[in-house]
Amino acid sequence: MLHVKNLHKSYQIGKQSYEVLKGVSLSVHAGEFVAVMGPSGSGKTTLLNCISCYLPFQAGEITLGDVVLAALDEDELARVRNTKLGFVFQDFMLLDGLTVRDNILLPRIIGGDTGGDMEQTADQLCQLFGIAHIQDKYPAEISGGEKQRTAVARALINHPLMILADEPTGNLDSKSSRAVIASFERARQELGATIFMVTHDSFSASYCDRVILMRDGMVYRELPNSGNRSAFQDELLSAIKDMSGE
Ligand code: ADP
Ligand code: MG
Repeated sequence: MLHVKNLHKSYQIGKQSYEVLKGVSLSVHAGEFVAVMGPSGSGKTTLLNCISCYLPFQAGEITLGDVVLAALDEDELARVRNTKLGFVFQDFMLLDGLTVRDNILLPRIIGGDTGGDMEQTADQLCQLFGIAHIQDKYPAEISGGEKQRTAVARALINHPLMILADEPTGNLDSKSSRAVIASFERARQELGATIFMVTHDSFSASYCDRVILMRDGMVYRELPNSGNRSAFQDELLSAIKDMSGE
């Protein structure tokens, strides 16, 4: 599904070049729910933006499905972004002037693909995430958790290969966070969605199949979830403590 191989990314500030990703390699398989954790500044958002086709990188390879990203020109990258990926951001990024339902439909309308199963897919997603009763409301009239579940539905409307989420529960209380993570779990179970999520929240991460710990632009460790959620959360907290103590 997603293969990142020896990825190097530097930012140029004036004449200085700062290397932020120093050879990151990882894979995400179809149907997996994977989290990336790590201290602020370790390069998580940069990694996500490279995978998202937003940022060029200096070396390494990213393969998404059967497409090698570095080989594409800008138009082709935009197409991959619009058709193969779904995005969920910390601050929701909903359009205030559109209802919940129209926000969810927007990627299809923008892509010019309004036929077929569009309405039915939107209904199914609203049902699945418990937002059917608010689909005619506007973002200002709903809670943060409802906004983020709307964003998850929007990310899925194009049947993407993968959802990329950067701190999706970063602006939510624990109850709403749980509902958003439950919507990811449901998307995976019911729709076979693949989810790659950056988070600093060990509770949210403990619902994932696997957690990749990043430190200083590199993969520090990968931890698989053996099935016991609360034990996995303890394991994550202890690995993060070890990582910052070294
Ligand atoms: P994280 O998401 O893990 O907090 P980021 O990927 O946002 O980390 O940032 C990693 C490093 O890259 C930080 O030191 C940050 O200051 C730097 N950085 C991020 N974006 C830019 C940019 N557009 N230009 C220059 N430096 C950047
Ligand atoms: Mg970040």
